[in-house]
Amino acid sequence: MATAYTPAMPDKKWSAVLVRAEYIDGLKAIYERKKHPLLDAGINTFTGFVNDLIWHVIEADELLSQKAPFLSEMGMTEDGVTIRDAKLDRIVEVKVRNGELVCNLDNSNDCIHVGFAYAIPEVYRIMNMVGRKSSRAKGGSVVGSLT
Ligand SMILES: [Zn+2]
Repeated sequence: MATAYTPAMPDKKWSAVLVRAEYIDGLKAIYERKKHPLLDAGINTFTGFVNDLIWHVIEADELLSQKAPFLSEMGMTEDGVTIRDAKLDRIVEVKVRNGELVCNLDNSNDCIHVGFAYAIPEVYRIMNMVGRKSSRAKGGSVVGSLT
């Protein structure tokens, strides 16, 4: 007895998802660059590479909800992330300062809020943007640090 079968989706353990072509191109470039270290990790196809990336995102999210279920991301700001700490019943700002994340509540770069912030992939884009802004500022004559 035959069941419906799509050659591209060999069994029900796999699903198709639509991804922007530009993202696929970017991922393929990364895959080609990192092919040899990935082979060492047992990843030998582009599909395997993409599934490994997704697995890391899921794992990071699960780890966060286990380690710090009382923390939640409220939103990104121009220079950091706003986090709600339900344990303290406080809103915490974690901001990029001199290329690293600093918590305004603990005035620390290694408290649990900073650890939580580093686990948010979007934070790295903001760190990169803020880093570029401050290196431009260094070239200027008037702009100084307000911190
Ligand atoms: Zn903190």
